Amino acid sequence: MNKKIKRANDIKKAESIFSCPICRSQMRVCDTNSFVCTNGHTFNIAKQGYVNFLDHPIKTNYGKDVFEGRRAIITQSGLFAPLYHSIADVIACQKAHSMNKRTLAMLDTGCGEGSHLSRIYKHISSFNGDSVTGVGIDISKEGILAASKKYDELIWSVADLANTPFNDRQFDVLLNILSPANYKEFKRLLTDDGIVIKVVPRRDYLKEVRQFFFDNKEKQTYSNADIIARFTHNFHHVKYLNLRYTQILAKTEIQALVQMTPLTWDQSKKKIHQFLEKEFIDLTVDLDLLIGRKTTK
Ligand SMILES: [Zn+2]
Repeated sequence: MNKKIKRANDIKKAESIFSCPICRSQMRVCDTNSFVCTNGHTFNIAKQGYVNFLDHPIKTNYGKDVFEGRRAIITQSGLFAPLYHSIADVIACQKAHSMNKRTLAMLDTGCGEGSHLSRIYKHISSFNGDSVTGVGIDISKEGILAASKKYDELIWSVADLANTPFNDRQFDVLLNILSPANYKEFKRLLTDDGIVIKVVPRRDYLKEVRQFFFDNKEKQTYSNADIIARFTHNFHHVKYLNLRYTQILAKTEIQALVQMTPLTWDQSKKKIHQFLEKEFIDLTVDLDLLIGRKTTK
């Protein structure tokens, strides 16, 4: 079976999750090229197998280079591996306590090139058999294109976080990793016993990069207090997990780090060159995992 037919079949199996972002009616996969709502709004299934739900392309600062850098960091250095273990543990506990149905539906909101979701999906599949539906959305077509070329087992869509192409209460787990959120939409999408897991940088996240590039002491650290306050205001039974570790990055991985992180985007070529001359760096990962529910029960 060619890739496009397989992808269209995968979307068809999950089509009850989707609703038209224009009129909210049900979507149907009509053939391998098109995903159509009952009112005839049609969205193209690209040859790589993703669906584009945006009626016009949106320009972001996240281009091909950024996604290539991020993928290299994730797949080559394993920089975020402890994060995936922690998230998988949270989902496993949640599933054991309250999610009784067999299939678990998980959405990554702002998935970029898909490597975070793919790795978390592998962890979850190991304890949940084949019964996990994993969906990734991002507003960047570059990100979704890269995700759909690489990761066959998941469903990928270009979509607006403020108006996602899904029915209400479809997801047991929403992931929002180092990416902007839309809590109104998150609450619409979550099942009643579902959880949202938001990952935000903490004070010392990538501090070695900040200290190298910024003279201003204020920019050398980072505060997530506002984000935590907003999250706590929007969700119930909120729990926090802090995850902090350091990892050595080798020269080629430093190159990928520079490509990936917005911290270096406005820096001079000279300064970036100096950073790239390092043989290795000790890099600090300092993250908060915020876990919340939409209901008080
Ligand atoms: Zn429609």
